[in-house]
Amino acid sequence: MATQEETFKKIVAHCKEYGFVFPSSEIYDGLGAVYDYGQNGVELKNNIKQYWWQSMTLLHENIVGIDASIFMHPTTWKASGHVDAFNDPLIDNKDSKKRYRADVLIEDQLGKIEEKIQKEVDKAKKRFGESFDEAMFRQTNPRVLEYQAKWDNLHERYSKAMNDMDLEALKQIILDEEIVCPISGTRNWTDVRQFNLMFATEMGSTADGTMKIYLRPETAQGIFVNFLNVQKTGRMKIPFGIAQIGKAFRNEIVARQFVFRMREFEQMEMQFFVRPGEEMQWFEHWKQFRMKWHKALGLGDEKYRYHDHEKLAHYANAATDIEFLMPFGFKEVEGIHSRTDFDLSQHAKFSGKKIEYFDPDLNKSYTPYVIETSIGVDRMFLSIMCSAYKEEQLEGGDVRVVLNLPAVLAPVKACVMPLVKKDGLPEKAREVMDLLKFDFKTTYDEKDSIGKRYRRQDAIGTPFCITVDHDTLNDNAVTVRYRDTMTQDRVKIEDLHDLIAKAVDMKHLFRKIVAE
Ligand code: ATP
Repeated sequence: MATQEETFKKIVAHCKEYGFVFPSSEIYDGLGAVYDYGQNGVELKNNIKQYWWQSMTLLHENIVGIDASIFMHPTTWKASGHVDAFNDPLIDNKDSKKRYRADVLIEDQLGKIEEKIQKEVDKAKKRFGESFDEAMFRQTNPRVLEYQAKWDNLHERYSKAMNDMDLEALKQIILDEEIVCPISGTRNWTDVRQFNLMFATEMGSTADGTMKIYLRPETAQGIFVNFLNVQKTGRMKIPFGIAQIGKAFRNEIVARQFVFRMREFEQMEMQFFVRPGEEMQWFEHWKQFRMKWHKALGLGDEKYRYHDHEKLAHYANAATDIEFLMPFGFKEVEGIHSRTDFDLSQHAKFSGKKIEYFDPDLNKSYTPYVIETSIGVDRMFLSIMCSAYKEEQLEGGDVRVVLNLPAVLAPVKACVMPLVKKDGLPEKAREVMDLLKFDFKTTYDEKDSIGKRYRRQDAIGTPFCITVDHDTLNDNAVTVRYRDTMTQDRVKIEDLHDLIAKAVDMKHLFRKIVAE
């Protein structure tokens, strides 16, 4: 059995070999934590974006989209708090010269204690079987209580240090907990320092006419500064939402784990404006809705969990993450935040403009509260790739590498193959392709044996392979081979369209989401 780390390496290699993701400017040896999507990656990514976009704008008549610029007036980032507070505490190990986020090192330590507790619980569960009372066990087992006390203590110190941004206290925790650098194995740490994550550049050409501007570190602010524009021109009534998909940039300290943490990445964010006082019920609503959106893809319900935030950002009064089980553990894919009226109030203050909403039902004006759902396209892409990648042992000792991608997201839906390159089969195959290609991303392949062609399609996750053979010329039927089961069916050409549509139509997912 391959370790999780080996599996992850294989997934990264597979992404490159099959045109999903390449290192950026690879011929110059790449650029740290920047990646390019290849011919298959971009299709998968576009499908993810479409799934998100449509689930927002089609399923909700009160959600509309925008596409704001990456460059924004620099005061935006003063108002949002990013100039002063978008910092990560960093620490270096003097032996390995590796740089870490101090908060991540401590959170990993908390995670290790949680794992120990879980191990005790799992052991006891096995021992006691049906009669096991987990809550009681957690409250009374001396080992668990000891770990829990340790966790509570560490957590309290950590929360306080983060809330006060007390860098010395953070370092002291790392020393007291005897946290070692995973590379050098030593505890030879530098002091903890603050590091602003925004990329800056200059706009304008003359020396005294230039202005320092930032590449946006999140898409959300483009929505907030357009709140009045959209509300007024769209005649939007509270509650309503504004959705946006776009690039964001962060000068991440530690860029690891492939497209999980990039310096240029893409976000899908939706800001939902509500009446003050109603934010908690909307927060709950969006928590549930977003989880349903994830689970409808069928990657496995057990791979998701919520992680409520211990430390709230300066703007939030509630926050949770949706985490996905990657090969390197449960990791944040999406954040859901109750941002209060912080952003709109700040922009009102810094711009001197009144940013309020007149509520005709209440007959008064107020600054709306905001619930944000914020998901990284690239992390979503990675979670899908990780759950889809399979190495199957076949009879006869062969190994098949297959991507069990949800059919709706697969880059290519069907590949049409003439059995041989003669006897009129290629022409017939082209006819079949012409029937499908306006609705589905369809490819044509006539090279190598059918078996090899199947494997190529398996490796990029194509759900349907359609083979045109000599019988097709008489019976107008083809052999459809299904990716997941490798079984084959004889299907009439006229039925192909419906067969594929049934499997790849997003509306089936949307129905699932709104069903409950
Ligand atoms: P983390 O704690 O992992 O740095 P974050 O809490 O700073 O993430 P948010 O600011 O909440 O992330 O951003 C919302 C979403 O944007 C995240 O859930 C993630 O999917 C995505 N995201 C954030 N930073 C990156 C990055 N460097 N690379 C890829 N995706 C990212």
